[in-house]
Amino acid sequence: MTTNYLPFTRPTLDEETIQGVVEVLRSGWLASGPNVQKFEKGLSDYLGGRPVRSLTSATGGLEVALQLCGIGPGDEVITPAMSFTATPNVIMRVGAKPVFVDVDLDSRNMNLPQAEAAITPKTKALMPVHFSGLPVDMDALYDLAKRHNLRVIEDAAHAIGSAWKGKKIGSFGDIVSFSFHPNKNMTTIEGGALSFADDSELALFDKLRFHGISRDAEGNMDVSVAGGKYNLSDVAARVGVGQLPHIDGFNVQRRKLVARYFEQMDTDPAFLLPARGDEGHSWHMFAPLLPLDKLKIGRKEFIQKMHERGIGVGIHYPALHLFSLYRGLGHQEGDFPNAERIGRETVTLPLFPAMTEADVDRVCGAIKEIFQEAKR
Ligand SMILES: *Cc1c(COP(=O)(O)O)cnc(C)c1O
Repeated sequence: MTTNYLPFTRPTLDEETIQGVVEVLRSGWLASGPNVQKFEKGLSDYLGGRPVRSLTSATGGLEVALQLCGIGPGDEVITPAMSFTATPNVIMRVGAKPVFVDVDLDSRNMNLPQAEAAITPKTKALMPVHFSGLPVDMDALYDLAKRHNLRVIEDAAHAIGSAWKGKKIGSFGDIVSFSFHPNKNMTTIEGGALSFADDSELALFDKLRFHGISRDAEGNMDVSVAGGKYNLSDVAARVGVGQLPHIDGFNVQRRKLVARYFEQMDTDPAFLLPARGDEGHSWHMFAPLLPLDKLKIGRKEFIQKMHERGIGVGIHYPALHLFSLYRGLGHQEGDFPNAERIGRETVTLPLFPAMTEADVDRVCGAIKEIFQEAKR
């Protein structure tokens, strides 16, 4: 073990933010307050002025978004078989059925012709994922949704700062959900946000976010729906306020590091590299596919050998339909070959804004060493 351990991700918090959090802690106002308002306003400005609401997590945001769309028992939602399990879990939590479709091998994004083929009279929404920050084809996605009269809930957990044809993800479209978990491209410790097309669903959203409570002009409280409890703390929001000015700079650094990865990934045997995208790709992760058929070692041993060299490697993600919950819906091996191959072969290499190009070279050097020994 080297002492200089390189994790696969790490948040970047500046001193101004840390001091700001200390001030919030001393202020006496810890739950949702002025910093939540400031954060939502700042994020809305960043997204071109769309209405924005923060929450304690993106998982909660996706679940409330489904409730807002009136999705429940008897309904189907189309979603990729390759994502974090939060995506289909929330569909199950509102009592609806996730209908999986396969992803493309290089973009890792939901295959839209397959999504169209999966539409039934029960389909109410599409829930795509901008995998690793690479936007799905937004023209084709919204064309599909329009033709079939479907809601779209974009799981943009990886995609803060991403853009499609120059337009930021979350600045257009239907409901767009971001995550600010510490592993994501910006953080509020835990937290998330929804971006809405207009104001029409905000009153109901606000009730669903906070106990179903509404107040009339005199301040009398009423409860009209069984709302949950998803409001962000002012402490977390203050972290977000400190992160917002840095999103674009963080993503510039991510793209620079990924460019270096692409230069240095001339390994033997070769990885299957992810799609490069354009400058609208925010590179939440750099996750190539291991050439396991040309190696004498498996992925576990590869990760172990990287770890011995002081380098962290993640797995994002196992194919969703092979988890026991989703096997319970009748799924099995062979249903979604690309998601399964990604699930077997993917490795997430270190990528975060505080990394340097020398760190990328170190990762690639370690891989070349390991492949040299393990080559068939
Ligand atoms: C992280 C993540 C989520 C959940 O985000 P939380 O803020 O941790 O709830 C949902 N979907 C995807 C694709 C994610 O990566």
